[in-house]
Amino acid sequence: MTDDSNLTPGGEMNDASTIVDCPVSGEQATEHPTTGDYREYDCPTCGRFRISRTVLALAPDNPETLKAALETAKRAAPGEIPFISNIVSG
Ligand SMILES: [Zn+2]
Repeated sequence: MTDDSNLTPGGEMNDASTIVDCPVSGEQATEHPTTGDYREYDCPTCGRFRISRTVLALAPDNPETLKAALETAKRAAPGEIPFISNIVSG
């Protein structure tokens, strides 16, 4: 009786996660939908983390930089979901 064509506006708790390539390790990861200026991934290697859309735009094809930034973010917020909000290039 139900189909998914009847979307409710404002249904932001909808957990419509998708499978994508992890921007850090390139593995298959789950991307969780967010309403903020960041993307949230759940990767078997990297764990769960958030990354700002600005960083994603600034670091194309630069997984080593992202990996280092993720480690920094993990240390900065132990016990929380790490958030890569900026990167140091070079
Ligand atoms: Zn990963």
